[in-house]
Amino acid sequence: MSIKNCPKCGSSRTKKNGTFRGTQRYRCRSCGVQFVHDTSVSAETLWREFADEHARVSVLARRHHISKSTVHRRLDDCTLPEILPTP
Ligand SMILES: [Zn+2]
Repeated sequence: MSIKNCPKCGSSRTKKNGTFRGTQRYRCRSCGVQFVHDTSVSAETLWREFADEHARVSVLARRHHISKSTVHRRLDDCTLPEILPTP
């Protein structure tokens, strides 16, 4: 089966959280981050390149053969600020 690990904390405690623009969306129950399961390039990869290489969105888009808006969406998906309930 396709259990997706969290791209941020690596936890496998994720659950499906509906779909977003036709892509399955997941939510991590450990850190609360939302992410999408993607076949081409993961938000994690984009984030790494974005952060480590300071790559521009246009560069990432060209590199992964996706549109700039897709890059933006992926990055947004990965960093949606989550208000976690205080324990
Ligand atoms: Zn997580």
